[in-house]
Amino acid sequence: MVEVHKVSGAAFDGNVYLVLDEHPILVDAGMMAHTTLNNIKKYIDPLEIELIILTHCHHDHAGAAHDLKQATGAKLFLSEKEIGCVGDQLTTVSYLFGMDAPEYEVDGTLKDGMILDLGEWKLEVLETPGHSSGSICLYDSAAKILFSGDTVFPQGSIGRTDMYGGSIDSLVKSIERLSQLDVKTMYPGHMEITSRDVNRQIQMSLRFARGNL
Ligand SMILES: [Zn+2]
Repeated sequence: MVEVHKVSGAAFDGNVYLVLDEHPILVDAGMMAHTTLNNIKKYIDPLEIELIILTHCHHDHAGAAHDLKQATGAKLFLSEKEIGCVGDQLTTVSYLFGMDAPEYEVDGTLKDGMILDLGEWKLEVLETPGHSSGSICLYDSAAKILFSGDTVFPQGSIGRTDMYGGSIDSLVKSIERLSQLDVKTMYPGHMEITSRDVNRQIQMSLRFARGNL
């Protein structure tokens, strides 16, 4: 049975998920390595983490990537469409946080249709541009779980599209794609994990996004 724990630093941080499968991974890195590491240690030795997957390059999801890589020895994967964003203040929106853009080494690139085999879960990479040009979601069709990054949030909310690389047209198409999935549990990039009627929540997000076209 796979366990998922939210191990991020604070309320304003992007959510960091520790996924405890045969191969333990992190989904996103957040901004606060120290707090996140302390939270991880409640469950496992950070050195057991094999991979860090970023849903996108924004500072609140990637700011601690370098420090978490150092502390865990894990490899880091990012969408091939966002490799050029690393270290750039505008595309990572680090300027919004008054920070320099995070610099870190990328060990592998993600593209649509790739399967990341964690053991029990096989996470499929879905390219879902809109919030950023290379945003991805991760889906397991057997477990019906979705890591939705900043593409959709619970309660019919959606990722903002008014930053560099954002596009409401693309976001609508991406959410249309997500609305075709069967999702029992959503792990969003902000807000809380939800298992309550998730397909309907995604439908609400789609209606909301279309209303913004
Ligand atoms: Zn973002």
